[in-house]
Amino acid sequence: MKVGVAGLGRMGSAIGKRLIEVGHEVVVWNRNQEKTRPLATAGAAVASTPSELAGRVETIITILTDTAAIASVYEGGSGLLAATVSGKLFVEMSTVQPETEIALARKVKAKGATLVECPVGGTVGPALSGKLLGVAGGTPEDFARAKPLLEQMCRRVDLVGPIGSGASMKLAINLPLATFWQSFGEAFALCCHLNLDPAWLVELFADTSGGPNVLRARGGAVALALQDKDSGSATFDCDSIRKDLRTMVAEAKSRGFALPLAERTLAVYDQASQEGWGSKDCTELPAFWSSRHKA
Ligand code: NAP
Repeated sequence: MKVGVAGLGRMGSAIGKRLIEVGHEVVVWNRNQEKTRPLATAGAAVASTPSELAGRVETIITILTDTAAIASVYEGGSGLLAATVSGKLFVEMSTVQPETEIALARKVKAKGATLVECPVGGTVGPALSGKLLGVAGGTPEDFARAKPLLEQMCRRVDLVGPIGSGASMKLAINLPLATFWQSFGEAFALCCHLNLDPAWLVELFADTSGGPNVLRARGGAVALALQDKDSGSATFDCDSIRKDLRTMVAEAKSRGFALPLAERTLAVYDQASQEGWGSKDCTELPAFWSSRHKA
């Protein structure tokens, strides 16, 4: 299949590589053209504008920062929707509020094309190996059309409901993860005076009722960070979590309620970002709070 990927950040680049690996003919576009190079080396063709990309493929995947990025890539004279896209399939995978996907689906439909949203859980590693967790929104017919491609990117992909449902579910899924990093930092602050081996400690927490899956998957990186050791490059950084938390808080507000824990966690991460932790990986965030405690 000819597949386009617009947006080659950490996730788009990994998804593009995965699609090349499983045999698709991939065309890519990114605002910062430098980021197209590794994909071109891996075998992708490079389009010079989003509209050129949409004209060259049957299915277009987008995974972009936020609502503003989606507007910028889809709209305007060189946007994806400026091409002749009638009959084509768009798969939108960014983490945004449901209203963004609902509004976009209307614009896509007006051009005679189809949109399925499928935000994902999992980071660069799972994206490279096709092991993301997808929460899709769309009609059952449209989802059935997108499913074979989604199954090459995801270890599990569930249709949640109509467009917007996937975005709601993705925000919900990310909330316990975002707050976990802070709660683990606070938990570590309570026991770090015992001077225990962080690797053992992380493994013990992972074996308890309150230990989430991420401690089993990323525990090694967390333990290194707790010892001030380099745990590798960031795949999901503090500033991205802040963006997700802001989106969750805004979504709850638009529905008439508050998320006190998410709001407080956001305030702490804002503080972390101001102190230079914005580009550090989420697995390093427990070390932020415990390092303040030690000081
Ligand atoms: P990223 O590395 O920061 O990449 C963001 C992408 O959006 C880049 O391609 C960037 O282009 C593009 N972009 C931003 N603003 C733009 C604009 N105004 N016009 C055109 N392009 C624009 O982010 P990421 O980590 O890949 O995340 C992408 C999305 O996936 C986000 O919604 C995130 O919440 C979600 N997500 C991330 C992860 C993760 O682990 N990282 C996991 C699941 C879901 P430039 O390169 O030109 O800046």
